[in-house]
Amino acid sequence: MGRKFTPEEIAGFDEEKRRRIAKCRRYYAENRERLRKEVKAYQVAHRDQIRTRKIAAYRTEEAHRKYLDKTYGLGAADHYYAQLKKQRGKCAICGAVPKRARRLGQDSSHHPWTERLAQDHEKDTQYLRGLICPGYCNRALGYAREDPAILRKMADYIELWQKERF
Ligand SMILES: [Zn+2]
Repeated sequence: MGRKFTPEEIAGFDEEKRRRIAKCRRYYAENRERLRKEVKAYQVAHRDQIRTRKIAAYRTEEAHRKYLDKTYGLGAADHYYAQLKKQRGKCAICGAVPKRARRLGQDSSHHPWTERLAQDHEKDTQYLRGLICPGYCNRALGYAREDPAILRKMADYIELWQKERF
């Protein structure tokens, strides 16, 4: 499945394309559960293939750029690399630098996507945010459902127990 178009993009499309998009969205909404199951089944059945594709997409900057533009829309690769410079290669949240891409391009048994910062984005709209470390911060945001209220409560909770320590 491709990425979601933004409302601004849709406004620029001709009527035929707008109709097609609306039809797809309706179809997806009505068949959500079944489609999700099908995607999951496909992912399980094609695990190795997906992995190989993902490794290839993260291996070189050129491939990574193509992947970003395809996944998040044209201009996403420029956004990523401009942001990378601005953040000086560090995670926008914890400041960690991903492991150096020591064997990038040679060994397919490791995970090259852990060696690049992840493009953080709002999951519903695909709106691009900063770059964050894939191992911890990206996962943490996902586990906290990207909900600032939950993240604050988590911080409060840890601090409370630090104070309450006996
Ligand atoms: Zn981080």
